[in-house]
Amino acid sequence: MLQNVRVVLVNTSHPGNIGGAARAMKNMGLSRLVLVDPCDFPSPEADARASGASDLLERAQVVGTLEEALVGCSLVLGTSARDRSIPWPLLDPRECGTTTCQHAAQGGEVALVFGREYAGLTNEELQRCHYHVHIPSDPAFASLNLASAVQVLVYELRMAWLIEQKQPTKMSKVEGASPLDLQLVTADELELYYGHLEKTLTDIGFLDPANPRHLMSRLRRLYGRAGISKLEMNILRGILTETQKVVQGAPHKRRNDDV
Ligand code: SAH
Repeated sequence: MLQNVRVVLVNTSHPGNIGGAARAMKNMGLSRLVLVDPCDFPSPEADARASGASDLLERAQVVGTLEEALVGCSLVLGTSARDRSIPWPLLDPRECGTTTCQHAAQGGEVALVFGREYAGLTNEELQRCHYHVHIPSDPAFASLNLASAVQVLVYELRMAWLIEQKQPTKMSKVEGASPLDLQLVTADELELYYGHLEKTLTDIGFLDPANPRHLMSRLRRLYGRAGISKLEMNILRGILTETQKVVQGAPHKRRNDDV
């Protein structure tokens, strides 16, 4: 589906921005870059900024006019940093992601069009677009770097695509994590722990069974908030076991007077 989406950069001045855009695209799973009359391309600077995405630059289509870049597209989205004189249907980047995704999923070809670093897209170019997309930046400093603007839009497109594909948007597995660290402790295991804790606190003289005050309730509240895993519970139980070994036969002075 993402292969139906092309990113079109119009008359870009800085080759570094072309490389940055290619990298942003590849990070987000896009591959079709179209360059309309770039000022300096190919260029070592573009390759350097593309980092591992120079394959996109090698396959980039270079054309002379926006018209050629848009051949075959049934949805054209033009980006702009500022308000234009004629009101136009406007999308924010999130809506742009879902609209692009829906259109591409139905087999339509979509173009995301970006303008020149110093002048953006002309009114004539913007009028070739079905929608305008504005990244809601601070109006006092509205214009993003070109490659950064590409990054924002392709990120939103990837999020929409992942949701569409019912794929997770969060990393599901932490490398090297123990399965015990992914399972929460159960209520009955917690109760065993509270019994162990109460006994240990009594043994070390921190809890006075004759005058327990609210110590155990407060500790229950604290542990209850923590979302303890089975692995963490093993650590807590181990600490209590070792504490009891140390204090056996050597009761300490009580210290919970201010609890
Ligand atoms: N001075 C130009 C800014 C160009 S920035 C102008 O006023 O239009 C280069 C390109 O980055 C823009 O043409 C657009 O494609 C993109 N861009 C930068 N900031 C943006 C924003 N806030 N919303 C949408 N696109 C933006």
